[in-house]
Amino acid sequence: MNAEVKTETRGFETEAKQLLHLMIHSLYSNKEIFLRELISNASDAVDKLRFEALSSPELLESSTELNVRIDFDTEANTLTIADNGIGMSRDEVISNLGTIAKSGTAHFLESLTGDQKKDSQLIGQFGVGFYSAFIVADEVEVITRRAGSANDEATRWVSKGEADYQIESGEKENSGTTITLHLKGDEKEYAESFRLRNVVKKYADHISIPVYMEKQDLSMPAENDGDAEEGTAEEAAPKEKEYEAVNDAKALWTRPRKEVSDDEYKEFYKLVSHDFQEPLQWSHNKVEGKLEYTSLLYIPTQAPYDLWNREAAKGLKLYVQRVFIMDDAQQFLPLYLRFIKGVVDSNDISLNISREILQEDPVVDSMRSALTKRALDMLNNLRKKDKEKYDGFWNEFGSTLKEGPAEDFPNKEKISRLLQYTTTESASDKQEYNFDDYIERMEDGQEKIYYLVAESLKAGRSSPHLEIFKKKGIEVILMHDRIDEWLMGQLTDYDGKKFQDVSRGELDLGGLEDEKEKEQHEETEKKFEDLTTRIKTYLGEQVKEVRVTHRLTDSPACLAVDDNDMGAQMRKIMEASGQEVPEVKPIFEVNPDHPLLIKLDQEADEERFGDMISILFGQASLAEGGQLEDPADFSAKLNKLLLKLTD
Ligand code: ADP
Repeated sequence: MNAEVKTETRGFETEAKQLLHLMIHSLYSNKEIFLRELISNASDAVDKLRFEALSSPELLESSTELNVRIDFDTEANTLTIADNGIGMSRDEVISNLGTIAKSGTAHFLESLTGDQKKDSQLIGQFGVGFYSAFIVADEVEVITRRAGSANDEATRWVSKGEADYQIESGEKENSGTTITLHLKGDEKEYAESFRLRNVVKKYADHISIPVYMEKQDLSMPAENDGDAEEGTAEEAAPKEKEYEAVNDAKALWTRPRKEVSDDEYKEFYKLVSHDFQEPLQWSHNKVEGKLEYTSLLYIPTQAPYDLWNREAAKGLKLYVQRVFIMDDAQQFLPLYLRFIKGVVDSNDISLNISREILQEDPVVDSMRSALTKRALDMLNNLRKKDKEKYDGFWNEFGSTLKEGPAEDFPNKEKISRLLQYTTTESASDKQEYNFDDYIERMEDGQEKIYYLVAESLKAGRSSPHLEIFKKKGIEVILMHDRIDEWLMGQLTDYDGKKFQDVSRGELDLGGLEDEKEKEQHEETEKKFEDLTTRIKTYLGEQVKEVRVTHRLTDSPACLAVDDNDMGAQMRKIMEASGQEVPEVKPIFEVNPDHPLLIKLDQEADEERFGDMISILFGQASLAEGGQLEDPADFSAKLNKLLLKLTD
């Protein structure tokens, strides 16, 4: 032992401690995944070395072959995973293994429910990686040396997975990382040949570097009766261990589709995504011709907790001619498809590509549009073939997809086809119909796709704007997602049919109304001109216009938005993001067939008239999910009327 070696004890970050504790206790039913995580880290480390060696070949030192080696010692109850990859410097060890340096850790911990089953799923999405070793080990020892550094610049890291870890310098002959797990008393199976081999095989099968284990001795164990009768009297020299690869080290995406089983695709997904759940769907394609590349795209089953975090990792794993180049290459898919995980392996990109150059490479641009189409087609096929699965997808990622039409104009129609909504025809609250479903059910003479944007589904369903549509039996799409009004600002038509917000502009039902009805409207408008003018005089600047409604059958009044004015949802988004919101005055529409309006028309007392109008106007704002400008005044006027009633 080098006397100068100083051992330093450092504490984990608080969040890391919490996470460790939680992980150890919630992943107990799926313990073996720690091997997947460690093998995957080892394979990543080798990939990184291979990549750096492209420009600095000396980093390869004397390694003839890059690989992973797994050993166990049944007696000592230890398991060792060694790679000759990139390794880590002391600083890297501290920042990689001493911190759970992921942007959303705190947020993640907040989202835990205390329900073990749910939490273990969340942990799966979080991707605990290296720390999963503590599921089966009560002590983990790491010795690592960065490729290119001297033999005595290695670092040793030891922890019991509790409050702290020890770190000291050490020596290591070859670069790379060796991790030794001191297994817990009841985890002996991972230091036992048969079981270990099976698990290793399962997780090593899809990675592209060889994983070695000691050759299995399949001969019958010799009877151990103390002294060997056969053989020589000399002490047998300790046998050199013989190793064999337990995997065929062929990257899964390079194999023909027909030869890869569903289970293999699923396992590979877990490897690349660090998601513990199975993928919902995948698409594996080899493209030949002008551009040559292979892609394997996956749709996760559940949205990651950080889907809305701008800093969260997104993008595909990029390989060039089977050589790993980078994780999270964002240039291959648009932002609205950021939930897609997978691998892309190109033959046309330069091996020296950097993230900056990726942004300008025309090859990448062409691949991006092809991969985007591929992803959208995969979703469209899923919707056709397995609606239930698609509905699940929609619940998780629908809002993300809604960013699409604005971001990706050329694919607007394709994305629109994937949008799902609840409508007035829905039997439940499920968002299950797309615009094609709607068009199929359109009435004779109907030219437009009608929709309503409301604060919530409940508010939408009871909106006065639906009255005429209910009466005529016309379906209306009920939108209530924050992003919907903004989204509809991007969509003017679909499949040749114009979209119409039912709370906007003058309601024109087109072919859904006959000539007689139209004539009647005009007559009513004329007949009540005096009344609407009188109301407008009273409401003044609060409204843009007062007019007779054609939308209402039961309610006395409602608010409409002028064609080009900003709607309520959009205003809320802008307010929330601290932007200045232009003032928008509503149009006040009254229903002259309503008994209240009939009475009002005959009301001679100006004060009473005014109070009533105030109340009607307030009610109409409330029905839109809006706020009263002067709630106290509203209550006072309402109470005055109520008092009259009880007189
Ligand atoms: P993740 O792999 O998701 O980043 P981990 O907790 O598994 O998270 O690992 C944290 C970091 O530690 C890795 O990103 C990597 O930089 C480093 N690391 C882990 N294992 C190895 C290894 N075998 N060789 C080199 N670096 C490693």
